[in-house]
Amino acid sequence: MRLDKLLANMGHGSRKDVKALVKKKKVAVNGVITKDTGFQLDPEKDMVTVNGEMVQYRKYIYLMMNKPPGYVSATVDDRDKTVIDLLPNDYQIFSPFPVGRLDKDTEGLLLVTNDGELAHQLTSPKKNIEKTYYAKINGHITDVDREKFADGIVLDDGYKTKPAVLTILQAGVISEAEITVTEGKYHQVKRMVEATGKRVRFLKRLRMGNLRLDPDLKPGAFRELTSVEVDMLQ
Ligand code: URA
Repeated sequence: MRLDKLLANMGHGSRKDVKALVKKKKVAVNGVITKDTGFQLDPEKDMVTVNGEMVQYRKYIYLMMNKPPGYVSATVDDRDKTVIDLLPNDYQIFSPFPVGRLDKDTEGLLLVTNDGELAHQLTSPKKNIEKTYYAKINGHITDVDREKFADGIVLDDGYKTKPAVLTILQAGVISEAEITVTEGKYHQVKRMVEATGKRVRFLKRLRMGNLRLDPDLKPGAFRELTSVEVDMLQ
């Protein structure tokens, strides 16, 4: 990796800022001052210092975001703002992407990382990772619906879902429920509810595997996962 890329990635400013630092002889590789901004190094082995302080290299970032409505779960989009647009440049340089998809109008827990292996593990259908959603539903949700969810629901395309847990929080003209699924089919929760003759009017993801949405995160806000949280996901 080029020295200027490493320093920019590790938050030492833009490539231009980093070039200025190097030219001012503030940067050393393995104890030797260098003025070569394109110096090729192995970030896992070579020791880089700025003003004598060691630069801790990290390859991966792991962010928990409270996805707001109105943003698409993608890295780029022609029409809509993406969840990646919510991140400052310090994180954009890691080329992060969302793990799985929440619909444009769905809110809540979204993991954003550049760790492809972890993303694959979390979204693999074989892993059966549980995802829990809070849903507001137009229509009266009943124990019969709960049993249907427990059996698996036949969707509009004939696919029968794996068993899911429907916990009724409030039943009425507008009902509230928590729904836990282990798959990630297109519009899955909305389509499961539709198959019972009702409609989801609000959807928010609360949990993915062992990771719960941090209640302190306002919609659109994010924070880095702690190392304990990253380990919990592995
Ligand atoms: N199920 C849905 O229908 N939409 C989502 O965004 C997530 C799960």
